Amino acid sequence: MKPPAPPAGRPRPAFPASLNQVVGQAASLAPARGATRPAPAATLQVPSGAGMDSSAVRQAMVRKLAAQGLQHPAVLQAFAAVERHRFVDSALVAQAYEDTSLPIGLGQTISKPSVVGRMLELLCECPLVATGRVLEIGTGCGYQAALLAQVCREVYSMERLRGLHDKAREHLRPLRLPNVHLIFGDGMLGFPGGGPYAGIVAAAGGHALPQPWLDQLAVGGRLVAPAELVPGRQSLVVVDRTPQGYLKNVLEGVWFVPLKSGIA
Ligand code: SAH
Repeated sequence: MKPPAPPAGRPRPAFPASLNQVVGQAASLAPARGATRPAPAATLQVPSGAGMDSSAVRQAMVRKLAAQGLQHPAVLQAFAAVERHRFVDSALVAQAYEDTSLPIGLGQTISKPSVVGRMLELLCECPLVATGRVLEIGTGCGYQAALLAQVCREVYSMERLRGLHDKAREHLRPLRLPNVHLIFGDGMLGFPGGGPYAGIVAAAGGHALPQPWLDQLAVGGRLVAPAELVPGRQSLVVVDRTPQGYLKNVLEGVWFVPLKSGIA
């Protein structure tokens, strides 16, 4: 049957309407069911020697994370969608889906998936995060920024090392994530331009939580960061900003690279 002709004088839907839809879809790495979008180009660049079906090993990683207690559906879905092997050197591709931290250059490391999952789950427990802006301190290779892009509306990610900032940009470019903004700068100062933030997550730990992070957290928002509040013991710290003030919870011991000031 032919579709009914549009009423005379009524214009057909304008082209930008569909263009916007396409742009909107590009924010998600997860291919929609039945979508005709081509697979991300880098999927084809897995060295064949690695003998890896990235989708199957990602699913296996997600199952392991779930078995370890990771429950948040959006976080699990993000791990299933983002290809971790894109973010590590080719020599490390075979280890990309193991629950291990890996070197990313300049003396820094990408945290192991279970730790990243724990941080993201804590962040996503805050109801504002899914529809809000999140500030990430320590872009590193860009992997966590890509995960964050799946679980919140807008990501601002800061890195103090130019070499890693540039590397993350390269890693993220083919993913075409319009909701990720990479900023080269000292994350200890936060990024007031994107705030206030529904969530702030740090991948590097200092002795105290920098005041700008607390200032730039929205009321109702949540901060998740490692910090050495007691000398010699770095712990995961969660701060909720409530209308009455800041509520701080110190959780398990962790090991993250040091939070440093200035850029290099
Ligand atoms: N989330 C990252 C983890 C990177 S490791 C990933 O997925 O790869 C932590 C990063 O924090 C390092 O790259 C380090 O250079 C960065 N860092 C440390 N202090 C910083 C600061 N003051 N501002 C911004 N980045 C910082």
